[in-house]
This record gives sequence, structure tokens and C-alpha cells, in this order.
Amino acid sequence: GETPERAAVPQAGQDGLLLLRRIGTVDPASLDDYRAAGGYTALRRAFDLGPAGVIREVLESGLVGRGGAAFPTGRKWDATARQPDHPHYLVCNADESEPGTFKDRVIMEGDPYALVEAMTIAAYATGCAKGYLYIRGEYPRAVARLQHAIATARARGLLGDDILGKGLSFDIELRRGAGAYICGEETAIFNSIEGQRGEPRSKPPFPVEKGLFGKPTVVNNVETLVNVLPILERGAQAYAAAEPKLFCVSGAVERPGVYELTFGATLRELLDLSGTTGTTRAVLLGGAAGAFVTDLDIPLTFEGTRAAGATLGSGVVLVIDDGVDLKSLLLRIAEFFRDESCGQCVPCRVGTVRQEEALHRLSRRVDDDDLVLLREVGQTMRDASICGLGQTAWNAVESAIDRLGVFR
Ligand code: NAD
Ligand code: SF4
Repeated sequence: GETPERAAVPQAGQDGLLLLRRIGTVDPASLDDYRAAGGYTALRRAFDLGPAGVIREVLESGLVGRGGAAFPTGRKWDATARQPDHPHYLVCNADESEPGTFKDRVIMEGDPYALVEAMTIAAYATGCAKGYLYIRGEYPRAVARLQHAIATARARGLLGDDILGKGLSFDIELRRGAGAYICGEETAIFNSIEGQRGEPRSKPPFPVEKGLFGKPTVVNNVETLVNVLPILERGAQAYAAAEPKLFCVSGAVERPGVYELTFGATLRELLDLSGTTGTTRAVLLGGAAGAFVTDLDIPLTFEGTRAAGATLGSGVVLVIDDGVDLKSLLLRIAEFFRDESCGQCVPCRVGTVRQEEALHRLSRRVDDDDLVLLREVGQTMRDASICGLGQTAWNAVESAIDRLGVFR
């Protein structure tokens, strides 16, 4: 997997933050700081609402997954809660590996108790007695801070049996990944936790029915989970009226970092905050699995980016100026997918190799046959791969050819 070059910090001067509000303002080791800054009010409200009431709030909030795929969180929770088969498991996907993505890292390092509290609420709502926090191995500081937060919460009656005297039993086990991008795929996480090779399983069945150890499982990304805190604190309607989203801004910008915006802001407004260097030629949205866009006026929403033929994905905003060698960048992306393919299915195992080879030839000499081949290979990977890795391995290359005129 890729390791972000620098630890990103949230940008100062942003008012009204919900997800980043405690970052840089509380001591991440201190449970007392966390509580003094509003921590554990959401869990108390969850106990008042009851499990069904919590799910209703999350459904009404309209929250969708922030890992990249934007599936409605409330539907996932509701489907798991209804499963008669027990036990139910909760898995927090903290294997943040999409190149250019570092938002979950900022939350886990700066506000670890928020994730512990949010996981506890998710477990309460969906009937999970056990949660796994599957975290990227290359995040040692986040691992240490979360381990401390979990141990402290346990010692203070906020994890374990009879949490806050409300009869809830729930505990969290932290598991570290070992550097494979594919292990962030939710079913590969199950295999990894179960001690098997970290390879994706075919879906359906979806995890909500048959997940970890074959049992109903809720899998949520870190950012998704921490959104549940303001949903419960403010109420679903107030939350939905100003819904927060984190963006990871990098590349040709003056102030790279994690930014929190309300849905609806445009790409241009975000880049006004970060500042750009050079002349912006394009922006890669969604990371290596995403697509290049040139229109800076697109709204940064899941729908808005989809309409522009891109994806918000995990919130990657990688700014490309006119000094960037696009061919080298595409080769780097192709190399990444070839490297990270788990090799389980043919379209991706062979396709990622063919794609890289064709890009190597094209970067030396543009040839129409290679362009046709590249498109065929790309479409086959998209249509026939088992998991998201193969399905998205051609997105960035395709958009660079079609929109930026590379190899013309
Ligand atoms: P997906 O669309 O298959 O599933 C999204 C989620 O919805 C999953 O949890 C899935 O189990 C659930 N789901 C889908 N249909 C369902 C149904 N009918 N019933 C119940 N649950 C259902 O997407 P995916 O393969 O899990 O994820 C792909 C995304 O991951 C891409 O958007 C990519 O951007 C992102 N990604 C993120 C990172 C990162 O570091 N954050 C890394 C790689 C990929
Ligand atoms: Fe493995 Fe690629 Fe197939 Fe996914 S698409 S299962 S990464 S070979």
C-alpha cells in the first residue's frame, strides 16, 4: 500500500466544524478532555432513543458510506439488526489505503474516542456484542492512540459489560493490516480477520446477511461512523440541513490537508480554501480508482460528481498543474493496480498487467492499436472483475485519455 507522505492537519480558520471540531483542540489521550468537549452525549442520547430509534435517526439523516461507495448507512444497520442469526459483528474499516486518502487517519490520531463512541452506538443499534477495528498497518500513531483509547474506555466502564449501567455489552478488538490495498475490501477484511488470505469474496451474499465468520456483519468506514455523533447530538433533520464531508486535498496546492465542507460546495470553493500553485490543469477526484475532471464548478456531492462522470469516492482531491507529467502519473497508477491486484480473478490479474504494458508503449510512441487494446482491456476489467479494485483500475486512465487528451 501507499503511505501518505505527510501527516495532514485540518485547516485552521474553518468555523462550524462537526467532524474535525476536536482535532488539535483536545488531548487525544484524554478521555476527560473528550467528555468535556461533548464526548459521550451521543451515546446517552442513543440509550434514550433505543436501538430502533437510533436506526430511524440514521435513516432519516440520509447518511451514506464515506469509504467511497456511498451506500445508505441506515439501510445497512437496519438490515443487520433484523437478522435472526446471531452473533452480529461490527467491523470498522480503517484500512485507509486509497492513494491520496488520509482523512480517517486525521480522525483516528486526533479524536480516537470519537471512533470508540461511534462504534459503541453502531453496536447498540445493530445488536453487535463484538467489534473489530481493522486498521492500516502503516498508521502506527493511530494504532497507539486507539489502543490507549480502547483500554481507557474499558477501564472507565465505556466498553465491556454493562456500559454506562445500561446493560449493553460491547468490546472492540483492534487488528492491524499488513500493507495490502486489497485488504481494505470488506470481504477481504473478513478473510484476514479469520486468518485466511486477504482475498475478496463474491457478493452477494452481502455482509449484512453473511459476513465475518459467516454471521450478519455491519462494515462501516471511520468517517461514516463518526458522522453518527452529530446526527444524534443535533437530530437527523438539523444534521441533514448541513451535512459535513471531509476532503483530502493534495498535489499542486498551497495548503494540502483535510478539509471539512458542507455538501454542495463546489470544487472551486474548496480550492479557494487550499490555494493552488501553478495553473490547474485537472483534478483527480476519488484517487487512483477515480477520474480526472477539468470543470471546477461541479458540486462536491456524490450526485454532482457522478453527473460529471467522476466519483467523490473517499474524498480525494488531487490537483494537477501544467507542470505534471501525466504519462508518468498514469504509469504510476497502472503500476499500483498491477502491484495490488490479488490475482484471484483473470480480468484483473491479466488486465492490470496488459494495461501497464500498453501505457509503457504508448508513453514512448502513440499507436492507435494500443489505444484500442487499452480500451478493450479496461472495459473487460470493469465488467468482469470480482471486486472494486479491478472494476476501477481503468477509470483514471480512461478519463485522462478522453478528457485531458493524453496520447493524442
Ligand atoms: P459496493 O458498492 O460493493 O458496496 C458498498 C457497501 O454497500 C458495502 O458495504 C456493501 O456490502 C454494501 N451493499 C451494497 N449493496 C448492498 C445490498 N443490496 N444490501 C446490503 N448491503 C449492500 O462497494 P465496495 O466494493 O464495498 O467499495 C468500493 C468503493 O471503495 C469505491 O467507491 C472506492 O472508492 C472505495 N475505496 C476506498 C478506499 C479507501 O481507502 N477509503 C480504498 C479503496 C477503495
Ligand atoms: Fe483480486 Fe483484482 Fe479480482 Fe479483486 S478484481 S478479486 S483484486 S484479482
